[in-house]
Amino acid sequence: MTPQELNASPCPCRWCGGTGINNTIHLRHPGGACRACRGAGTLLVWRPPRPCPFCGGTGVDPVPNAAFRSIPCRNCSGTGWIDYLLTTADE
Ligand SMILES: [Zn+2]
Ligand SMILES: [Zn+2]
Repeated sequence: MTPQELNASPCPCRWCGGTGINNTIHLRHPGGACRACRGAGTLLVWRPPRPCPFCGGTGVDPVPNAAFRSIPCRNCSGTGWIDYLLTTADE
């Protein structure tokens, strides 16, 4: 099915900024495939796309983590969106 048929829009993953690679500003998280979108860089978000209210759409958990400083938002797993599909889900 196409995104249109699913009534979903492709949106950039906030944790990696759409690159699919772990954002280096999030210290202590190693490089490699983004943990939020599994390296896809883009997610399918149900229309209308709604930013995660917990992190304000940033993908970063608003509660500082002592060990890791910034961690993926617990509400949206770091994607920055709610009600999304991972585009890599069936791989
Ligand atoms: Zn990502
Ligand atoms: Zn969030």
